[in-house]
Amino acid sequence: MTPAISTVSLPSGEVVPALGQGTWGWAEDPHRRGDEIAALHAGLDLGLTLVDTAEMYADGAAEDLLGEALEGRRDEVFLVSKVLPGNATRRGTVEACERSLRRLRTDRLDLYLLHWRGRSPLGDTVAAFDDLVHDGKIRYWGVSNLDAEDLAELAAVPGGDAVATDQVLYNLTRRGVEHDLLPQCRDLGIPVMAYSPIEQGRMLDHPALRDVAESQEATPAQVALAWLLRQDGIVAIPRAGSAGHVRENHAALDLRLTEDNLAALDRAFPAPTGPQPLEVL
Ligand code: NDP
Repeated sequence: MTPAISTVSLPSGEVVPALGQGTWGWAEDPHRRGDEIAALHAGLDLGLTLVDTAEMYADGAAEDLLGEALEGRRDEVFLVSKVLPGNATRRGTVEACERSLRRLRTDRLDLYLLHWRGRSPLGDTVAAFDDLVHDGKIRYWGVSNLDAEDLAELAAVPGGDAVATDQVLYNLTRRGVEHDLLPQCRDLGIPVMAYSPIEQGRMLDHPALRDVAESQEATPAQVALAWLLRQDGIVAIPRAGSAGHVRENHAALDLRLTEDNLAALDRAFPAPTGPQPLEVL
């Protein structure tokens, strides 16, 4: 049976799938293009309709690939892209967004994120996001790689309270955000988007993860994703370059980790006991 897609609410009340699809590294190898597009379509067919990209990925070519792959399917998708901090001035943000829209062959982004904090004042980027919302070019905006202090600063900027999400590195091996950032996002009423949810594949040979996977007759990637997906307010955006990996990741929606599983994972990947600097990739 196909597992139901669990969902997460944005502050507006709109719901998005808790499991999406990432695209970092796509469109870099022409030999993989067919597999990447097939993976994306397989995911959409399964309801994994939140798609994450960025102007940075393959220097715009990942957005180009999505523009081609989403021809005729744009309305099925909750499309997320990101502005580079070097472009995130008031005018530069608008221009970067317009370039992304052209590459993506669409008239609007569902969510537009500041990729990480750079030298532009947050207030200028927020003002540009406001303009883009007003002009119908983006529906929501958010941030990425902002730590708890940055987020507090953002909330104090005029219009900053309209932030819809913070997309950060979060997986079993990167739990620092549990100490302060996740509670802060809960207080702000915004979901967190967990990027690199399987640590780019590096965690998949961990013995504890393998043990839990074996006990569940699942794969380590599915356990890593189910561990994230069991939490409210978390969207996981794994990148899978084949339809097989997409189907495997989708099946993680059906995996229920037991108390014993969770305790074993806590022993192997301990929760933070104090504040830690936000990790980034
Ligand atoms: P992920 O943690 O999603 O790992 C991707 C790797 O895992 C790929 O090599 C993929 O291989 C492999 N993989 C996927 N599914 C499986 C599976 N079921 N079994 C075994 N291997 C699997 O890493 P990413 O860094 O790509 O993060 C996901 C997305 O998050 C990015 O693509 C991007 O959209 C976003 N991101 C955002 C950042 C930010 O700064 N805001 C930073 C980093 C990522 P294969 O291709 O063969 O399937």
